[in-house]
Amino acid sequence: MALTKTSFMRGMQCPKMLWLDKHKPSLKVIPPEIQARLDAGNDFGDLAMGMFGPYEEMTVYRPGTTIPDKKAMLANTQNAMERGVGVICEAAFSNYNNYCAVDILRKTETGYDFYEVKNSPAVSEQFIKDAGFQYYILTRCKVKIGKVFIVIHGPDEEKPFVPVDVTAQAKGYYNWINDHIWDLNRRQKEPDEIVIELGEQCLNPYECWYYGYCHGGELPPRKED
Ligand code: SF4
Repeated sequence: MALTKTSFMRGMQCPKMLWLDKHKPSLKVIPPEIQARLDAGNDFGDLAMGMFGPYEEMTVYRPGTTIPDKKAMLANTQNAMERGVGVICEAAFSNYNNYCAVDILRKTETGYDFYEVKNSPAVSEQFIKDAGFQYYILTRCKVKIGKVFIVIHGPDEEKPFVPVDVTAQAKGYYNWINDHIWDLNRRQKEPDEIVIELGEQCLNPYECWYYGYCHGGELPPRKED
């Protein structure tokens, strides 16, 4: 597989981060509070699958693991679309091996809308870029996309799934993604470790999990420091 939504965003934050993910992933240190947030996000995403009623989920794991079997997911998705399934969750698409799995793909009269689920009270620009990456892959796979939504975690726990229409902004990232995806693919495969000056990117938009490795064992500054 070439790039996923996550690896593309990580590469845009820092190409060395992308390179380390591929060549030296054991060096990463995920802070426990971040891991807890990622786990909570997965639970919220699982619940959101049912927000439009009946659905089919495309997730397949490699035997005995929790690693997605992307090839099987791609085949399942194609089959579900051919059968006209109305709501497809974790719908998988690939273009030149760049890959994404869409949280919720919903059939419309003219094509499909899609929903990216985030366990967050508000939409951030980073979320819109995530949706933009998916729009890019789907469009290159010739899937006709109408609207794009980010589903955020609203204040009413009885009805926590709140879709926010980000169609124009997400589609607006198409060229930006096309301008970078091929170069990042190339950099990820470079044989030698990428050399990058330490800087702002080590903490923004997200704290880098290789911070200690690149900063000679130093810990990242905490907000209360
Ligand atoms: S710590 Fe900084 S330089 Fe090192 S991989 Fe992360 S973002 Fe890149």
